[in-house]
Order: sequence, then C-alpha cells, then structure tokens
Amino acid sequence: MYKSPRGTVDILPEEQKYWRFIEKKAVEVSRLYGFERLDTPVFEDAQLFTRSIGEGTDIVTKEMYLFRDQSGNDLALRPEGTAPVCRSYVEHGMDNRVQPVKLYYFAAIFRYERPQAGRYRQHYQFGFEAIGEIAPSLDAEVIDMAWRLYESLGLKGLSLQLNSIGCRQCRPGYIEHLRTYYKEHVDRLCPDCKNRLEKNTLRLLDCKKTTCQEIADAAPKSSEHLCDECGTHFESVKDKMKILRLPFHVNHRLVRGLDYYTKTVFEIQPPEEGSQSAIGGGGRYDNLIEEIGGKPTPAVGFASGMERIILNLKRQNVNVPEVSTPVIFIAHMGDEARGKAVQLAADLRRNDVPVLTAHSDKSLKAQLRQANNLSVRYTAIIGEDEIKNNAVTLRDMSTSDQRTVPVNKLIELLVEG
Ligand code: AMP
Repeated sequence: MYKSPRGTVDILPEEQKYWRFIEKKAVEVSRLYGFERLDTPVFEDAQLFTRSIGEGTDIVTKEMYLFRDQSGNDLALRPEGTAPVCRSYVEHGMDNRVQPVKLYYFAAIFRYERPQAGRYRQHYQFGFEAIGEIAPSLDAEVIDMAWRLYESLGLKGLSLQLNSIGCRQCRPGYIEHLRTYYKEHVDRLCPDCKNRLEKNTLRLLDCKKTTCQEIADAAPKSSEHLCDECGTHFESVKDKMKILRLPFHVNHRLVRGLDYYTKTVFEIQPPEEGSQSAIGGGGRYDNLIEEIGGKPTPAVGFASGMERIILNLKRQNVNVPEVSTPVIFIAHMGDEARGKAVQLAADLRRNDVPVLTAHSDKSLKAQLRQANNLSVRYTAIIGEDEIKNNAVTLRDMSTSDQRTVPVNKLIELLVEG
C-alpha cells in the first residue's frame, strides 16, 4: 500500500475548514495593509536559494530538494518564500512601481527535515514582503500586520520577540566578538554548535540545548554592537511598535536561520514552548535583492507556517467556521422518481442550493440513513404520489418532521434558507 512520502500529509476534507479560515483572515489582513497577491513557481533555479539563504545554513547544506531536469538545469523545490518574491520583483522591473511594493503569497515549502509535530517536509506558508523602503515604520507595520493576523484568528497568549542583527558594516565585527566568546566555552558546546562555530556563528545563539542556552544567555549582544545607522533604526522600530501597542520583548538570542536578514528580526511564539515552536517570523533583508542581481533595494517581510497556526488553533480550541455543506439530500423510489430527482437537483443547483442525491438503488430507509450520515438539514423524498402532485415530502433531519411541499415552493424555501 502506498503512503504519502514521509513528512508530508494529505489535507483531508474535515481539515479544510482550518485552511479556509486562515486564508480568509490572511487575505483580509493583506487588504487592510495594502498587500497584493503574488504566486511564484514551486521550483526555481537552485542558485537563487543557495546565494540568498546562505551556503552555511541548514536549509542549503542539508534540506533542499534538488533535481536536474532533462535540459540539465539545476532546480530546487522552493525551500522558503522570500527569495522567489524578490526574484519576481527584479525580473518584472517592479522597482518602477510605487515603492514599497507590497506582496503576499500562499506557498508550498519543501525542506528535508526530521518530521515531528508541526514540522514537515512539505508545509505551507502565508507570507508577505514589503520591498523598496528602508523606513523603520515599515518594519513596525509588517510586525503589526503579523500580530493582527494572529489576533484576528483568535489566538491568545502569543509572545513577540524582537532583535536587531545589524548590517554588512557592523555584523562582521559583532560575529568576531561572538566567536571569541564562544571559543572560550567550546568544551561545553554541543557537537552541532562546535561544527557551526566557524561557519555559522550567529546560529549558536539559538541552540536549544540547555548548556548551550546558558552560554548563549551570557554571550555578547548584537544590539550592543550595532553601527549608528542600525542602532538608530532599531530604536525607531521599537518606538513605532510602542505607538502600535505591540507587546514585544527584545530577545538577544533571536537570530533566525537564514543569512539574508539584516537589522530587524522578529518571531512570534505560541504560549506552549516546543523545541521548534515559532509560529511565524520575519525581518528586514536589505541586501537580498542586490545579491540576486537587482539594484540595492531594502525590504522587510514575514512568513508563518499554516500547519503551525492550525496546531495552535486546535490547542486553544478556537471555534472555526464550518465549510458550507449541502443542505438537502434527494431520496427517490422507483425509476420515474429517479428522473425527477435528477431534474430537481439540477433546478436547485441552478438556484445556488447545494444538493446531494442518491445514486444507487437503495431502500428508502437506507437512503435516509445515508442522508443522516451526510448531516444534511433536509431530505426531499420523491415517490409516486409526489410525482403525481408535483411535490416532495420534505423531512427535517433534526426533528424527523415530514410535510408535503410543492416543488416550486421548495426552491423558494431553500433559497431563502
Ligand atoms: P522560516 O522560513 O524558517 O522562518 O519559517 C517560517 C515559518 O514557517 C515558521 O515560523 C514556521 O511557522 C513555519 N515552518 C518552518 N519550517 C517548517 C516545517 N518544516 N514544517 C512546518 N512549518 C514550518
């Protein structure tokens, strides 16, 4: 028996209400902040990701789904959503539009990770990017939008963590400090951190191992090694966030796993701590567009895993609207009645009433059982008498009350709800 590949899941009909709910809220919040939708391909030139995400990162070293097509192109299934949006921005000359260009997306993301709760090899992200503006108020607006999304979904008790990791000017100096500090503690580091010490020093700060965390807590703080420009930017972002009443905490250990971030980084954590629990995160990436071949263009964005949001909606028992299901089932007895049922179903659908009919030759009792299992509100029964009277017997499935309703009245009744 085939199974879906490890780390992937089918999104079954009963799960769909969560997805539709989040999509609806995400589209609404995008509209409020003036973002437009962009869809990019599921695969891209592999180099787009290696260059932007960073050679030393987990995604690039271990997690990309790479393949070569019949023409010899090296492609990768999208392991994150920002670089493709930037590629599209450059390719379509969006620097000629009014800046910042504000784009949002829903995208399948592929990472060869160790699957666990809330961690998949194919997951979906809702994300948005504001490209072409350096002002700190835009960072605050993006964070506000992320926060507002979760609020509108009804999630409670989230925490908002903020940091600044500097820019090309000040970060190398900071990393030197950090490396020197970590070298003094190298004996106590976990094997992963020992490996990362030279290549990806920043990531040592967010190691989840207890001893590494203790070391990280006392490590030099990036926010204390910012150049003037980054320092002023960070202060201004915090000011705007205060105006927006965003309840943030500065977390000196927050660095994010991708190299392209500059200055502001932020993450939103659910109340229950898990090892990989961030529900969403983002930040500024002022060099990325230049690195992939565009003009120097500042930008800031955010992405959230849909599955992580759903996990938290379920944990918090958030009431999610049901996806609308058919309201009426048509049962029939005899060949002629079957023809009438087909006709009635067509008429109802033309009037925008969702309807199901029996197709196999089952007894009326079996058809009613079927209707019951489908959770429809009504069943219309058509037999010889009903045909004669151009009517149906309408059964209310919750009360089992039955009454005769002329066909033309039935449409009226159902259309009115
Ligand atoms: P990242 O691109 O790593 O910053 O991820 C952005 C968001 O996507 C995270 O905050 C998670 O909500 C979600 N996410 C990342 N990786 C996975 C994964 N493997 N499975 C499910 N969700 C993920």
